[in-house]
Amino acid sequence: MGLLSLGTPLPWDKSQQYTELIRHHGIEQFLALYNKMKDKKTECLLFGDEVEYMVIFMDHNNKNAKLSLRVSEIFSELAKEEAEAENDPKKTVQSGWRPEYARYMLEGTPGTPFGNRLVDLTRVESSMKLRRQTVMKYLRANETVVTVTSFPRLGCLGEFLEPHFEPGGPVAKSLFVPDEVINPHPRFPTLTANIRTRRGSKVAINMPIFHDIKTPKPFIDPTIPWNRDKFPEDREAASGAALPDHIYMDAMSFGMGSCCLQITFQTRTIGDARRLYDQLATLTPIMLALTAAAPIWRGYLSDTDCRWDVIASSVDDRTKEERGLEPLKNNKFVINKSRYDSIDTYISTDARLKPEYNDLPLVYDESIYKKLIDNGIDDLLARHLAHLFIRDPLVIYDELLHQDNETSTDHFENIQSTNWQTVRFKPPPPNSNIGWRVEFRSMEVQITDFENAAFAIFIALLTRIILVYGLNFYIPISKVDQNMGIAHKRGAALNEEFWFRKSIYDDPVPPAGGCHKGHHVSEINGANLTNGSTNAKWEKMTIDRIINGDDGHFIGLIPLIKRYLDTSDIDHDTRRQLDRYLDLVSKRASDTSIPTGNLPTTATWIREFVRSHPKYNYDSVVSQEINYDLFKTIEKIQTGQTKVPAFLDGFEI
Ligand code: GLU
Ligand code: MG
Repeated sequence: MGLLSLGTPLPWDKSQQYTELIRHHGIEQFLALYNKMKDKKTECLLFGDEVEYMVIFMDHNNKNAKLSLRVSEIFSELAKEEAEAENDPKKTVQSGWRPEYARYMLEGTPGTPFGNRLVDLTRVESSMKLRRQTVMKYLRANETVVTVTSFPRLGCLGEFLEPHFEPGGPVAKSLFVPDEVINPHPRFPTLTANIRTRRGSKVAINMPIFHDIKTPKPFIDPTIPWNRDKFPEDREAASGAALPDHIYMDAMSFGMGSCCLQITFQTRTIGDARRLYDQLATLTPIMLALTAAAPIWRGYLSDTDCRWDVIASSVDDRTKEERGLEPLKNNKFVINKSRYDSIDTYISTDARLKPEYNDLPLVYDESIYKKLIDNGIDDLLARHLAHLFIRDPLVIYDELLHQDNETSTDHFENIQSTNWQTVRFKPPPPNSNIGWRVEFRSMEVQITDFENAAFAIFIALLTRIILVYGLNFYIPISKVDQNMGIAHKRGAALNEEFWFRKSIYDDPVPPAGGCHKGHHVSEINGANLTNGSTNAKWEKMTIDRIINGDDGHFIGLIPLIKRYLDTSDIDHDTRRQLDRYLDLVSKRASDTSIPTGNLPTTATWIREFVRSHPKYNYDSVVSQEINYDLFKTIEKIQTGQTKVPAFLDGFEI
């Protein structure tokens, strides 16, 4: 999660004097980079994924699955292996490892990006499998590595960490988790403390409780130490931070300690990256709902299925003034969202982006905007950057204050990489042959490598049809925000409807050239892509309709991808494999019993696992033993000892 510089991070009070300096030089650095790179062309559509993992310690004697804090040791082994492969010309780097926010987390990448041919897509699953096996080599007996979005019992009474630490500590000041849960790299505790200090209080996260048959109404959490006055900040908790009928959490680790699946694409040109950024942004809520995997927080079933809002609140560093709770005095802006949230503005230069689609009032720094415009940046990109730069830098390293703006982008990245949004537009890093990129960031991580590969490949194929067919998914950006809210609802993948463009193929732009030979827009001209019945260009659709289409009215993304594959030069085996991945995505979206039936989302599967456990009391409580059995089952699924139809892995269709 962001830039890991070496050095001494300044505490908040010392860093304050430098925030303008960082912002100023950050923009200078962007301008220098932009001028050098704006015409850069690269190979098309290389891509890579990032999978986040948790290491679990299975305490079989006490039937307790705990988060293992031994990851720094495991990480040094992984980093050693990676460095050896890098330095040995006979070896290829098979996996890359980065530390993550929590001390029990790891982030794994393919080492070298996947290529642009269709057959390269079939490498994704084996790369993910290899990554898991690589971590497993360094685990001890009773440890296991899992891809689970949120750990159900983080912050519960009792033991949930191995080794155990009592909750609290000066960094997060949490009532529920100890500071030892945070990755000890200085960036992470500093981020945590600075977010809290800047905000002026602890972060407050409230997720609605899932009211089961025996859950008390109203639900007032008996495990919150309501009368405790350990930290002055908790007076706020006692006086309203913890809401009735909600699961209350008070620390960054509840959010940033969650795991996701992200995909980054390198495009040929800056124009393609900007186009893809917009088109993919409209799909982020849909993919969040479809990959939903986080139905439990602090030991309670929640009425929501995904992590996004939890992380947004967990890093919400806005002051009371910025949240609009007090008149502006010391701050410049009232800001509508956390720095982890959905994007606020489209940026593509293609003619289909109508001004009315950017219908959110954009908060941006006028002086930065002017500077960018004066230096030749166009209005849309200038607004985007001036919007990102309303945020303060959160971690400033003493040693890195003074940099050469022609060769470094550290100050730019400082702000850019702590704007954690649904998609990210990434300039080429200086001194590399990497091009302009877009990162797709909303998806939750799935339990098996097969599922994670399926979603990564689906998005990769989607980027191709977007560029090849010149698809148009634009809806007003406020509707994308509405979709983010809808995506959180329990069972949204099947039960809710999302705003979507009815005609995804009007006002086509010329398809991208270069590597996508053999496809012509005319190939889909015959498709009936619109329902054409009303004048509005968008309407509410089920995810089933968006993904699978409906006879004759809306073609659906998977049928469109299949049409693309039908006309591609692709061997039988590759096609068969890709079809299996697409089937998983299709069935997750489907609400009808097509041949093998629909498949629940991971969130639904976990919720049902809990609700059908013999020890569950229908009171929303996910006990230590239920959690232990859940992880035993997850471990068996991941190692192939148990086959669960919901995951399709190992099942022939
Ligand atoms: N773990 C975060 C999430 O679930 C993402 C951190 C990152 O950007 O790497 O969204
Ligand atoms: Mg990460």
